[in-house]
Amino acid sequence: MSDSLIRAQIKDLLKKRNAVLLAHNYMRDEVQEIADITGDSLGLSIAASRTDAEVIVFCGVHFMAESASILSPDKTVLLPRQDAGCPMADMVTVAGLEELKKKHPGVPVVTYVNSSAEVKACSDICCTSANAIKVVRSLKEKELIFVPDRNLGRWVAQFIPEKRFIYWEGFCPSHERMTLRDVQQQKTQHPDALFVCHPESAPEVSAIADHVCSTSGMYEWCRASSAEKFIIGTEPGILYRLRQDNPEKEFILAASALICPNMKLTSLEDVLVSLQTMIPVVTVSQEIRAKARLALDRMLAIPRD
Ligand code: SF4
Repeated sequence: MSDSLIRAQIKDLLKKRNAVLLAHNYMRDEVQEIADITGDSLGLSIAASRTDAEVIVFCGVHFMAESASILSPDKTVLLPRQDAGCPMADMVTVAGLEELKKKHPGVPVVTYVNSSAEVKACSDICCTSANAIKVVRSLKEKELIFVPDRNLGRWVAQFIPEKRFIYWEGFCPSHERMTLRDVQQQKTQHPDALFVCHPESAPEVSAIADHVCSTSGMYEWCRASSAEKFIIGTEPGILYRLRQDNPEKEFILAASALICPNMKLTSLEDVLVSLQTMIPVVTVSQEIRAKARLALDRMLAIPRD
């Protein structure tokens, strides 16, 4: 079947099913192109919850579809590729987290949204890469457990030296594959470019960045900057919209190793088959949902700037 026929069938089925198609910023270009909404994982789940769609087709990875289901329990959430998981989210287990909590009684758990619903349910508050500093500052306690991304945790800790962080030693394999050498090579080749990276990057890489921010922050920062050339330190899916939104600017990927294989699994064919068959559905049990929702709501209650 040709690509244009697949696209036409997807559009028909989206209407027929009263479905909204979400694509994470790291998805393949053609998936982002056909999506109703593109964005970061939590932003997408919040946006979908505000629509009157009965079905959410989440082109992303498993924990993202779970978050959509937590925020929209009455909608059917489809994840076109059931095997699209997140290695970082899988690095923390409920049993391991409970053990750590026992060692540090009364210490609040701050959990990055890149985690399973079960882990969120064992947490006091969630955070995103965009609001993590604010979330940690909002805690009255002097100590906290930060789960699962050690790189995000250590990056946040620099801004809040008065608090003691207990880290879960998880990481995003895609961001950690970007080495200091990769970035230095790109900087030598493109001395006029600014380097911007995601806080999931290794500390020595973040340390030489002109700016460190979330994916949504990256769109905003590159758009507002007067620079014409940028070295981008995050998953290359972000280049699609950066280039579309800023045709006069140049974007160079810091390292080809940044590709996340899980984020590249979902094809247009997968989206079509999922809409035809209405599987795989991602659900979260009522008990887990209620607890995880509490951790998300505490985060959402923190006023934005
Ligand atoms: S880019 Fe990293 S954090 Fe995101 S899904 Fe892939 S492995 Fe997980």
